[in-house]
Amino acid sequence: MSERYSAFALARHALTGNRDWPQAWRSPEPKAAYDVIVIGGGGHGLATAYYLAKNHGISNVAVIEKGWIGGGNSGRNTTIVRSDYYYPASAAFFDRSVTLYEGLSRALNFNIMFSQRGTLTVAHSRGEVDFQRRLVNAMALNGIDMRTVSREECFRLCPILNCTPDARYPILGGMVQDRAGTARHDAVVWGYARAADRLGVDIIQNCAVTGIRRDPVTGAVTGVETEKGLITAPKVGIAVAGHSTVLADMAGFRLPLRSLALQAFVSEPMKPVIDMVVSSALLGVYVSQSDKGGLVIGGNADAYASYAQRGNLPSMEATLSGLIEMIPSFARVRLLRQWAGIVDYAHDSSPVLGLSPVPGLFLNCGWGGGGFKAIPAGGETTAHTIATGQPHPLIEAFSLGRFRELAMVDEATAAGIEH
Ligand SMILES: Cc1cc2nc3c(=O)[nH]c(=O)nc-3n(C[C@H](O)[C@H](O)[C@H](O)COP(=O)(O)OP(=O)(O)OC[C@H]3O[C@@H](n4cnc5c(N)ncnc54)[C@H](O)[C@@H]3O)c2cc1C
Repeated sequence: MSERYSAFALARHALTGNRDWPQAWRSPEPKAAYDVIVIGGGGHGLATAYYLAKNHGISNVAVIEKGWIGGGNSGRNTTIVRSDYYYPASAAFFDRSVTLYEGLSRALNFNIMFSQRGTLTVAHSRGEVDFQRRLVNAMALNGIDMRTVSREECFRLCPILNCTPDARYPILGGMVQDRAGTARHDAVVWGYARAADRLGVDIIQNCAVTGIRRDPVTGAVTGVETEKGLITAPKVGIAVAGHSTVLADMAGFRLPLRSLALQAFVSEPMKPVIDMVVSSALLGVYVSQSDKGGLVIGGNADAYASYAQRGNLPSMEATLSGLIEMIPSFARVRLLRQWAGIVDYAHDSSPVLGLSPVPGLFLNCGWGGGGFKAIPAGGETTAHTIATGQPHPLIEAFSLGRFRELAMVDEATAAGIEH
């Protein structure tokens, strides 16, 4: 078992040249049977396994990952954590996640570098300023710490914003969430992996799930076929982000999700120039600065369905031209890296969580471009649902059944958030 991280452990290992740190988690061979199998070693799969063991005492659990943990979207995102959602169900769920993030480093004994630097979303027209006021009032009623800010306050918070009054997209005001911020994405994955492993969870990497076994009579799930053979379990959770429809297909049902490429960009490192996350819905761009000094830039997903983890040039051009409209001095900055992840969008841009049509099979998907912030609450509620067989109250609104009942939670329309 890995040892607890502490100042004392740091000092002790420093004396021996840091040569004998134990492995952070084991690499076991899979057993033939488990109580629960979680497919997908991203943040949601690992958090689900951790909370199964921690909150429900179910530690005979395997997380099965086709590549390496965090190799999917959990290691490819722009690390923003916030809860500025419009509908009461979304506000309650995402704010629970921010609250869990606030105590996560201590809970996992792993520094996830949660930096509550705040988010500023700028508005470019009187209509948008009015829209933001109504949004902030609605969010405040749901207990979210949002506030509107004037044009002058925007420039005080972020002096490098385009402040020319005759700009093509002038900045007339904005809204701020002070508790929001960024966390180190790899650390969230590694922290949950290490903590789950310490509680007895088996993390099986380089082992793709190739089929889902069901009982021919009851239709209930009985296990999964993998590259390392058949592994049985009466309960299986799916947390594979952009590949959710592929796994659902293996189990014999369809999910109303589309898989799209979403890109991100990192610039060369610079001295500190921006100490918040700044975004513009109209320009389709957001930016923050990492601890290493690089600008971390994101925008909208590609317009067509794809599994190609590259992203296309027009989306890159749209994002970067939006960035330069918002902060013209960044035109002189050089890009260092670009990449994409495959994200899964539902029609209403909200996640799909809870029970599936197959008894014993549970869903954690539909995060689109916004599931990193949801990892703690997604894991906590999925673990509860798997352990009890009943959807956690915080995720009832996000069931698959909402598409049949037309009870959408349309955040893209309501809050202008495409997740
Ligand atoms: C460019 C980009 C920027 C983003 N920015 C943000 C942001 O700022 N804030 C935010 O909240 N969210 C953001 N997101 C979204 C966020 O990253 C995801 O919603 C979140 O990481 C999803 O976590 P996950 O654990 O569900 O999926 P993943 O981390 O993708 O993990 C799923 C895992 O399942 C594995 N898998 C797939 N098929 C199989 C199989 N057959 N067998 C076994 N394993 C399998 C994959 O290899 C993968 O490791 C962004 C995403 C991208 C791509």
